[in-house]
Amino acid sequence: MHLRDRPSPNHDARPGAVDMLILHYTGMESAAAALDRLCSSEAKVSAHYLIDEDGTVWRLVAEVRRAWHAGVSLWRGRRDINGASIGIELVNPGHGPNYHAFPEPQMAALERLARDIIARHPIPPRHVLAHSDVAPMRKIDPGELFDWHRLARAGIGLWPDFTALPPPAADLAELQRQLAEIGYDIPQSGAADAQTAAVITAFQRHFRPSLCDGKADNETQQRIAALAAIVRTS
Ligand SMILES: [Zn+2]
Repeated sequence: MHLRDRPSPNHDARPGAVDMLILHYTGMESAAAALDRLCSSEAKVSAHYLIDEDGTVWRLVAEVRRAWHAGVSLWRGRRDINGASIGIELVNPGHGPNYHAFPEPQMAALERLARDIIARHPIPPRHVLAHSDVAPMRKIDPGELFDWHRLARAGIGLWPDFTALPPPAADLAELQRQLAEIGYDIPQSGAADAQTAAVITAFQRHFRPSLCDGKADNETQQRIAALAAIVRTS
């Protein structure tokens, strides 16, 4: 794979091994602007890789180092997501008038890069995640126009067979339990609070992209149950 190097100063030592892959969008109008920001020592943000819309892959931080892309996050009870993950930024203007699907050359380059990363690190499918999955109250990237289904067909990440769905949760408390089993940071309150709505929306952006309203309709509930059943046995 052809990589172009654009070293960022924003990284530090990893506390342990890599076992997660986190995908982002840049939320900026151009790759050049995003690269400038990810390499600015004042901004204190970075990622390991950035993929432009034409498929160009930029390497900013060595995989052995801890890049600064996830911020305050949580997955399966773990908080140092940067310490355990590889972060990939996808050039896209982000939610707003110009948000658009991720083009073919960019997706093809991502598939190649992600396959290569997964071959070198023990990253289970359930640890291939959106920034919004690990920070649902703060982040919405890469968003519902990112094609997770395609990525899973390429062997990267999880996409259950949604044609044979289990029954929905009996009540909100069970739904919250299932979302926590998947890995989300969600209160076990049985109450429809703001964090529960944010986590349901994050789930929908990833696994039910045609409806991202934070309300768990029957299909959303069934998809949550399906995913929980898979991670329970994986
Ligand atoms: Zn992000």
